[in-house]
Amino acid sequence: MLKKLILIFFILIINLFNFVSAEEVLKINSINFDNSDNMIFLTAASKVMYINVKSMKLSNPNRISFDIENAILTKPNSSWSLKNSDITQVKLSQFTTNPNVVRLVITYNKNFNVNKLKLYRIDNNIVFAYDKKTFNNKFLSTIYDDEKSTNNYYEYTTISEDAKTTNANGEAYIKTPEAIAVQNAFNNKNELVKKTPTYVQTSKPKVQKLKSKFYVNRIDVKRGNALIRGIGTIAIESPFVISNPTRLVFDMPNTYVAQEIRNKEYVLGENETIKIGQFEPTKARIVVTSEDVEKFRPIYSYDSQSIFLAHDDRILGMKLYDRTSAIYTYSAKKVNDTTDALHFVFTEPIIHSIKKFSNRLEINLYNSSGFDHEAYKRNLNSEFLAKLRTDKLPYVGIKIIVPIKKTTNINYQQSFDNKQLKVIFETPKEAEIKTSPAPAIIKKNPNVKTIIIDAGHGGSDVGATREGIYEKDLTLDMSKRLATILKKKGFDVEMVRTNDTYVSLQDRVLFTEKNKGDLFVSIHVNSSVTPEGNGLETHYYTPQSYDFAQAVHKEFASAINAKDRGLFKSKFYVINHTTCPSILVETGFISNPEERKELMTSERKQKTAEAIAKGILKYLGKD
Ligand SMILES: [Zn+2]
Repeated sequence: MLKKLILIFFILIINLFNFVSAEEVLKINSINFDNSDNMIFLTAASKVMYINVKSMKLSNPNRISFDIENAILTKPNSSWSLKNSDITQVKLSQFTTNPNVVRLVITYNKNFNVNKLKLYRIDNNIVFAYDKKTFNNKFLSTIYDDEKSTNNYYEYTTISEDAKTTNANGEAYIKTPEAIAVQNAFNNKNELVKKTPTYVQTSKPKVQKLKSKFYVNRIDVKRGNALIRGIGTIAIESPFVISNPTRLVFDMPNTYVAQEIRNKEYVLGENETIKIGQFEPTKARIVVTSEDVEKFRPIYSYDSQSIFLAHDDRILGMKLYDRTSAIYTYSAKKVNDTTDALHFVFTEPIIHSIKKFSNRLEINLYNSSGFDHEAYKRNLNSEFLAKLRTDKLPYVGIKIIVPIKKTTNINYQQSFDNKQLKVIFETPKEAEIKTSPAPAIIKKNPNVKTIIIDAGHGGSDVGATREGIYEKDLTLDMSKRLATILKKKGFDVEMVRTNDTYVSLQDRVLFTEKNKGDLFVSIHVNSSVTPEGNGLETHYYTPQSYDFAQAVHKEFASAINAKDRGLFKSKFYVINHTTCPSILVETGFISNPEERKELMTSERKQKTAEAIAKGILKYLGKD
């Protein structure tokens, strides 16, 4: 029998927010149901700036549809059956592709007052909120509720107590009471029932802690990496390694694993697999079997609803982002004697990973661009965190490396919208007994015999030049001074050139290898198109060169009264192709009249040579 569908009326065309900015298609990644039984969240890959939603009421059966225009559903069409509820079914589908329309259909019985349905936009979510209606689906109710065991993994959202909150651009976009009502729904249900929240006016923003659950229902292998997906917000505990065979284990608190993927082995590569099991009633366990376990790291998606368990080598060349995010505020501070915190706020949800090693924490921000290193350094008002360094990731993104102690505990939080990260470092004070028997000076590299000194440029290659002064002459002079000092200290010193001759970059590397150089130092003088540029730089490229570069730069930058421009990872030919620890020192700017005058003095040249030599000795533990 063909049921007649009767269109009753168009309810409304909701122009939620009057921003006419974004023309981009909204990518809807997931649908979430909250445990307060009050809301449906459609979570998009980016902030919902502007949406057009057309709503229609239909009968036989009673249902309401919402057509979200200019939107794409990135997952298959799906439907949820809800028993014993006034809402009987929720369907989400790509209704049309030209134009792109995503349709949400809610089917309900006669007890449901459809007029109480409201629509909100919160960051990258479109929220459908009802009034005191209950979902009784067991699986859905496992998502987003409160549990003590997730304390390290709660998300937090800052809600201003003012009339409006503002987004990154300072635009008012949602009224506080609504936002608070939405956020309250994520909090403990009993608490919500027991007390009517009263909103005390405070000048400080109110921080609400949210906790979530995750339902894993899909694993896909992509180029030997595993994409683990589900519904809810993903959280994982610190991984650990077990042997025979070598396995990497991640536990996921408050996570439920779909029956169809439980304990199923997915092949990542030769003798390499991944599987996920229900380790405890509320804890899932991921086990990666591989000889390469130290290379895996979990990468959190934009919306925290999936993790990409990626092998460092195999993600090279894979595009993880479709839009980049800038860091618009960041801060680091000493919380107390033992605790330091690092806090980032991004303009867009961030794709990131956090990996702890015994001596460092690596924070990879894959879709972050426009990182202002200098501004960042100025913001660091924590001695502990000032030691951090940054590196570029391939294509886009930055790697932030924070040196830590073995005993440092890391507590890591991300916001619900994935636009804030907070990393808390807690290093317990070492016991007196441990520190009192001072260890003997460790010779980091006692085998260093031969040091190669590379005077930049030479012959027909004059290098940078101003006012008849040549870089090649300044570099040779400083190199000779450095050689003299190092010879006196007992090193074998080999100079790439000792007079004004041309040496190709390839020959400089060959010379270093042929002479079995244990360290390589290239001396240069910088230049800039404007006369203002001035100061000192040290460059390194290979991983074995970092400590060397840092030791030399520290001495060099403190000995010379000039601007410290910092330590750089740069792919210069000579420091990239030599096998030993290699650095390139930019000793000042020939293009800056004052600095040029200084560089021409034997005092500055001698000071520079002495500082570099001192750095070398420090690096070797011979100071
Ligand atoms: Zn140069």
